[in-house]
Amino acid sequence: MSRPRGGGRKSDGEDEMNHSAAEQRPEQDLTEYRARYVWSAGGWEERASVWVRGGQVIAVGDLEARPERYRSVDLGEVALVPGQINAHSHAFQRVMRGAAERRDPERPNDNFWTWREAMYGLALSLSAEEVEAAARLAFWEMARAGITQVGEFHYVHHRPDGQAYEDPNELAHRVIQAAQAVGIRIALLRVAYHSGDIGQPASPRQRRFIEPDVQTYLERLSALEARWGEVDKVSLGAAPHSIRAVDRSWVEAIADHCRSRDLVTHIHVCEQPAEIDAARRAYGMGPVEALHAWAGLDARWTLVHATHLNEREHAIVAETRPTVCACPTTERNLGDGFLPARRLIADAVPVALGSDSHTVIDPWEELRLVEYHERLRAQARNVLPAHAPGAQMSTAAVLWPMGTTWGGRALGRALSGCIEAGEPADFVALDLGDPGLWGAEPQTLLDHMVLSMSASAVRHTIVAGELVIEDRRHVDEDALLAPARDFLARRRAR
Ligand SMILES: [Zn+2]
Repeated sequence: MSRPRGGGRKSDGEDEMNHSAAEQRPEQDLTEYRARYVWSAGGWEERASVWVRGGQVIAVGDLEARPERYRSVDLGEVALVPGQINAHSHAFQRVMRGAAERRDPERPNDNFWTWREAMYGLALSLSAEEVEAAARLAFWEMARAGITQVGEFHYVHHRPDGQAYEDPNELAHRVIQAAQAVGIRIALLRVAYHSGDIGQPASPRQRRFIEPDVQTYLERLSALEARWGEVDKVSLGAAPHSIRAVDRSWVEAIADHCRSRDLVTHIHVCEQPAEIDAARRAYGMGPVEALHAWAGLDARWTLVHATHLNEREHAIVAETRPTVCACPTTERNLGDGFLPARRLIADAVPVALGSDSHTVIDPWEELRLVEYHERLRAQARNVLPAHAPGAQMSTAAVLWPMGTTWGGRALGRALSGCIEAGEPADFVALDLGDPGLWGAEPQTLLDHMVLSMSASAVRHTIVAGELVIEDRRHVDEDALLAPARDFLARRRAR
């Protein structure tokens, strides 16, 4: 993937660059990407060039002085926008798709908790190689759909019998390597898991997730930081799984570690009413209240789901402004409930998005569901613009930061949400000839994309200036997917 590659049509007479020449002559590291529309700081620029060097945008439009030699890539009739950020993923769950969508006569009342049992069955069945193959499959599909960074909430740590691997971070390494093989950025959020529920020991079915004490957990997280901390396109964070899985002493120790190391901290919270009832019984307060009392929420925290917040929790979130990560396609699949988006947007709480269980992987669908769920509840249209600070008129303009700026915030990055100098060269090129976009006008293109487009419009995906998806295929697709193909064939044969 380090090899620079051309994409789309090459301009006439350009000099194809080779890597060693680029190293000797730094000006040749310069690439011009040309597109019909570019989403820039000033809105859509038509027939614009984006200049990229060292994985970063250095200019949009014309350079003051063009060097003699550079690579030029004409992406054609596309709209070029920043890559989407998927802030919450459990990659291995990608292979569960379709498997828990029918009624079991022995379990007539399907809900989140029966789904969780099926998920545990899958987690117990996977070899290390299969965890890596499943992650490649999930991350490939993400890149195909326009995602350029994933926040992987990684909790399957141990061998199927519950014993740690020789390197206790074996599976985390493999998941990171899967992201590297695909070519997308990854924030590996290493999960802390200890109890089965508040005050309850873990069940044997959770044996691949659990660790004996928080010191062991922090040592393993530190080992990951030492191994991957300086590696390009990889970052790390901590993820106490939920207040069901860790108690106050764990949350405090992890929060201290993250504060001292400037790491992001993610946690599942308020997804299901049963979790909230248990927190009330044990602590006399809701999960977000408890977290704030124990550790002090701030912008470093991401609260995943936050579906059922009480009044006090809404006030805490509005004041402390953690990121809330919604996962609308998973929340609808699991029957969790609706994100309180109107309230969060009115309170200027940053909302990021995640594909979570990967029932579908489509960042555009996640974006639009945040608005559509509010329309269904309010029986009205263009609901979020009416509640967003600053009287924003366009629905897509309210939703857009969720997949870019706020997703970046959840993973510890400062991103503007548009293509401009200083931003990473992480782009998605949307095919204006795709049926879902055909006929789009620049005046309404952002709303057209976000509210109506299918992910099939994603033609190219570029990460750090390099093509990962070129004409809807991964640049090394057959080799990339061979392990997943074998693995799924073996599962079918079982
Ligand atoms: Zn999750």
